[in-house]
Amino acid sequence: MISPSSLYLHIPFCRIKCTYCAFNTYVNLDNLIEPFVQAMIQEIKIVGSSKDRQQLHTVYIGGGTPSLLTAEQLQRILAAIQSEFDLLPGSEISMESNPSDLTSDYMASVRAIGVNRLSIGMQSANESELKLFERRHDLNAVIKAVEAARKGGFDNLNLDLIYGIPQQTLADWENSLKVLLQLQPEHVSLYALGLEDGTPLKTWVETGKYPAPDDDLAADMYDLATDMLGGAGLAQYEISNWSKPGLECKHNLQYWRNLPYPGVGPGAHGYADGVRYSTILSPQRYIKVMKETQNNFVYPRTPATDQAVVVDRDSEIAETLIMGLRLTQEGIDRETFRQRFGEDLLDVHPETIARYEKHGLLYVDDKVVRITTKGRLLSNMVFRDLV
Ligand code: SF4
Repeated sequence: MISPSSLYLHIPFCRIKCTYCAFNTYVNLDNLIEPFVQAMIQEIKIVGSSKDRQQLHTVYIGGGTPSLLTAEQLQRILAAIQSEFDLLPGSEISMESNPSDLTSDYMASVRAIGVNRLSIGMQSANESELKLFERRHDLNAVIKAVEAARKGGFDNLNLDLIYGIPQQTLADWENSLKVLLQLQPEHVSLYALGLEDGTPLKTWVETGKYPAPDDDLAADMYDLATDMLGGAGLAQYEISNWSKPGLECKHNLQYWRNLPYPGVGPGAHGYADGVRYSTILSPQRYIKVMKETQNNFVYPRTPATDQAVVVDRDSEIAETLIMGLRLTQEGIDRETFRQRFGEDLLDVHPETIARYEKHGLLYVDDKVVRITTKGRLLSNMVFRDLV
């Protein structure tokens, strides 16, 4: 059976570059947004037309800050997707957003064009942490954004929080979690702060302006979050993600099940027809190559494709294991694995799996292999040994 694809769209614009951010995103390029929308529509047409009509069951508009696009621009992008793909009934259409952009009129318009899942970058409920990140919103803007989204008709909201922030105490983190729970999101994503090369935050830590994140404290924060979110009826289904029952992010499940997702836009990543690829980073170059484009690209490549690697069987197995073990409830279904690769998962890594099962890091039965609560703390070691 051919499973439907997911489509990722990368919107590479932001108003302000947050101090921790290493995503492919640019400020002060608002004049390029409209030419970019036209270029993205062109790329969607190429991806859609270079293969027999494909079924999609999720679309994810990420970035960057997709909420810098008008509802009309988003509508044209979605119309291009609908004309080039079979968007299945009930498809999940997610969009990331910055709280400062979310008025109730904008939310109602975005909901009306078909976006049915909204991710709001809350990041913290503590003003000092939002200032450290140079986020362009305060807590009040987050509360108003959630109100606007609800008023606009969104019943599937994700809120993101970051933990392990320099100078953040366990009490600060507890406060962020409490405020988040008061906002009653259907889905929560928690990210441990990473100090990324080239970011101001990394420089500040390296020069001693701020202390380095404390790994032990971050582990305590993770445990606290697990207790608080679980206690509020949000079930953990992935190492960093919790949701109300049935509202897991279908798009991200596609990644963790290692299933196909073409990606479009500058700096997008994609995986389709056995090819893993990334696109050119510069929005200016992206607009230029898409304008000058000729057809005849071999799916999933487009004029914007930069790097592309054909994934061999061993790599596909390794990626399927690493991604699948992130799914804390679902794990890796042994029958699905056998159908995909023609052999039982336990025959691929018999000794490693037996050893980790014996030490209580992996749970194994006739149907699944999955990571245990104890294994989650050592997940990097388990993943490394399995590839
Ligand atoms: S809003 Fe998001 S994508 Fe933009 S700079 Fe901040 S963290 Fe990065």
